[in-house]
Amino acid sequence: MSSDVSGTRRPNVGVIGAGMSGLAATHYLTNRGADVTVFEASARPGGVVGSTTVDGRVIEFGPQRLRLSKPVETLVDEYELRDALRFGHDDQPLFAYYEGELRPMPLSVDTALRTDLLSWRGKARILAEPLTGPAKPDETVSEFLGRKFGTEAADRFMAPLYSGLYGTDPADMYVEYSLGRALEHVGIDGSILLYVAKRLLEGVETPPIVTFEDGLQTLPNAIYETHADDIHLDTPVTALERDGDGFTILTDDGGYSVDSVVVTTPAPTAASLLERIDGSVARTLDRFTYNPIGVVHLESGYDREGHGFHVIDDGFITNGSTWNHSMLDREGIYTSYVGSGDTDLLARDEKTIGEKAALEFESITGSSASPLSVEVLRPGMPAYDRSWAALDELSIPDGIAICSSYTSRAGIVGRIVDGKRTAETVL
Ligand SMILES: Cc1cc2nc3c(=O)[nH]c(=O)nc-3n(C[C@H](O)[C@H](O)[C@H](O)COP(=O)(O)OP(=O)(O)OC[C@H]3O[C@@H](n4cnc5c(N)ncnc54)[C@H](O)[C@@H]3O)c2cc1C
Repeated sequence: MSSDVSGTRRPNVGVIGAGMSGLAATHYLTNRGADVTVFEASARPGGVVGSTTVDGRVIEFGPQRLRLSKPVETLVDEYELRDALRFGHDDQPLFAYYEGELRPMPLSVDTALRTDLLSWRGKARILAEPLTGPAKPDETVSEFLGRKFGTEAADRFMAPLYSGLYGTDPADMYVEYSLGRALEHVGIDGSILLYVAKRLLEGVETPPIVTFEDGLQTLPNAIYETHADDIHLDTPVTALERDGDGFTILTDDGGYSVDSVVVTTPAPTAASLLERIDGSVARTLDRFTYNPIGVVHLESGYDREGHGFHVIDDGFITNGSTWNHSMLDREGIYTSYVGSGDTDLLARDEKTIGEKAALEFESITGSSASPLSVEVLRPGMPAYDRSWAALDELSIPDGIAICSSYTSRAGIVGRIVDGKRTAETVL
């Protein structure tokens, strides 16, 4: 522990990783008076939140946008970033590519009435959801959504909309460790349809879609700059060891003694870091699987209004596409997510992956496209598949906290909330 001017001993916390989890934890730990040292393997902060500029256009390797919900807004204001915000268009459809056509997903009452993605029978079946019961033990996401909303709605948009984010087959995801937790986080413990209807009737507004003029990395950069003296970039942690009541964080530059540690790396790295502290915990952490994912930025003259599409038809390497051009007014930019979990495809060269993504974009939209950049993210997205049952056996040693998507909620908002909760727990 170190002391402040009043002589009060300040807890000395080591944070491993400076992605959104590590930076949020650093922000809240420092606010609570801790002495924080952060170790980040790469040369920049942000982790999977990464923006760059190609030919003068901003592109994003990870998330393309977020919602300005309360936790995000608080950070935006604390780091004086409001003027850098760029607002997206909320009122545009999201499409499903089904039986060779882009069809609007029924995500509003208006599109639900208009879309030809579902038959009238399929639409009527959705209305029976309040009569169905809660998730059953060992129920999968596809079984759960099929039982609640009917198989047509489940297969043609709901299951792909949820599981497509992670590149996992919804038949391999237990509700208990995936969708169920997400519903719990937003406070849904009964009918999903009644919850949505109540919010509509009460006029509860969904927070707006936002990014920053220079891309989402503006947020991690701002947090980093404020705490730069305590954040070591280019400094991978190689192991953790016990050191009396505390721990030593080992790096190639030497060892750092801390009272407690916050680990924010993906589970496979956390497993290797914890090996010397507790082999059994390391083996449990090693069971969580991730899906590598390819992110291809395309340039195209396609000009349809929408947020993008999910591919439901078989035979494509493209899982979905975000239309930055329409949603965020990023001219000519389209982002394709490809080959989720398909290690053979993602092992191929960038040129092959980019060209294939561009050809598929053309066959789906009718507009030609050319690749601007190709990035394969590893380990990629947490799979939230059957391997997540390992959570029940995960018992983290005292003094170490996990702040990461595999134990809690993925997404930037989830990471900020988890960072705050972690700071409260650690201190
Ligand atoms: C393609 C994609 C699209 C997404 N879309 C959205 C979206 O639209 N909206 C949304 O809210 N969320 C989205 N997400 C999810 C969101 O980006 C993540 O949940 C969040 O950014 C994860 O942050 P993290 O800090 O937990 O992990 P990471 O960003 O993975 O950070 C972990 C950090 O640990 C570092 N590290 C690893 N090993 C070591 C080591 N040995 N020593 C030190 N440091 C180490 C890494 O370099 C990295 O910086 C998306 C994610 C992806 C991949």
